Amino acid sequence: MKKFGRGANECRRCGRKDGLVRRYGLYLCRQCFREVAQELGFKKYW
Ligand SMILES: [Zn+2]
Repeated sequence: MKKFGRGANECRRCGRKDGLVRRYGLYLCRQCFREVAQELGFKKYW
């Protein structure tokens, strides 16, 4: 679990812990996930 340095229970992007999305191994909060998802073309998931 040292993979992300600061643990895997917080957003890798902003460090937020609420609404964490661990789907697809992204480990992002919902806000960051949404941004990243849009960049990656995952719009359909929302
Ligand atoms: Zn975030």
